[in-house]
Amino acid sequence: MQQIRERAYAKINIGLDVLRRRPDGYHEVKMIMQTVDIYDDLILERTSEPGIHLQTDHEELPTNTDNLICRAAALMMEEKGIREGVKVILTKRIPIAAGMAGGSSDAAAALRGLNALFDMGCSVEELQRLGVKLGADIPYCIVGGTMLSEGIGEILTPLPAPPDAHLVVAKPDINVSTAFVYGNLHVERLQDHPDIEGMAQALSEGSLQGICDRMGNVLETVTVPAYPVIENIKDLMREMGAHNALMSGSGPTVFGIFTDKKQAELTAEAIEKQGLAGQIFVTNFHNAKSN
Ligand code: ATP
Repeated sequence: MQQIRERAYAKINIGLDVLRRRPDGYHEVKMIMQTVDIYDDLILERTSEPGIHLQTDHEELPTNTDNLICRAAALMMEEKGIREGVKVILTKRIPIAAGMAGGSSDAAAALRGLNALFDMGCSVEELQRLGVKLGADIPYCIVGGTMLSEGIGEILTPLPAPPDAHLVVAKPDINVSTAFVYGNLHVERLQDHPDIEGMAQALSEGSLQGICDRMGNVLETVTVPAYPVIENIKDLMREMGAHNALMSGSGPTVFGIFTDKKQAELTAEAIEKQGLAGQIFVTNFHNAKSN
């Protein structure tokens, strides 16, 4: 095989809880991850010139070892003793530093793509073991779908896909550092924890309302006071008919869940008109099943 294409899907967290900070500084999480129909495209090509050669249409992204794609490829090729080179062409659509695991998903797609391109025969578990060395969300991104994610993010349990819904995903034009959010989170002071078990149950029952009733993200306790625009977008989404709205990951992206496509489209227009977000998508869960 000379060339392969891989899609790297973005994720949202429909529920995100942090249980404790471990002595090594990592946070133990309990979250429900969900892929959405927003994706980057990767084309991977074998080259005779050794090394990893990344090109991207996104001007702000590094194309050297600062890019997770290069790090993932280097790790895998080193581990598997691949001496040939690879060219990677990345078309970027997932908002950057948004809480949507764009970098992790690209890295996961690179691992899957290299595995196929060089016929390495790695199992999913092997790819996940490699990926977790670079980022806690990468094992999830190898498979995607609907997952309960525990530990530091590497303990994964598949859950039933949610019912079909329309989503508005809005990334305000602010940069929120993940390190700032976790650094300012006081786990021991958290009053409310989202009902993650209840949400898993609602997924099993195929109840969109049950899912929406249990949406929660403890990281909002840090980001919302610091960046009120997050709450403004959530309020607008709910006013305009979202069953519920929540920040994804460490933010600042907000998503709202709608049953009516027209309402979702009107909400996206209103967010744009009010200048609340620069990147706005009307999309769907990636693996949703019709209810
Ligand atoms: P998460 O949800 O896992 O916290 P995120 O959406 O907050 O991820 P990313 O978009 O993955 O954040 O990127 C965060 C940083 O990683 C950016 O500052 C970016 O420069 C760097 N980065 C490295 N490789 C990539 C990549 N392939 N795509 C996007 N960002 C990348």
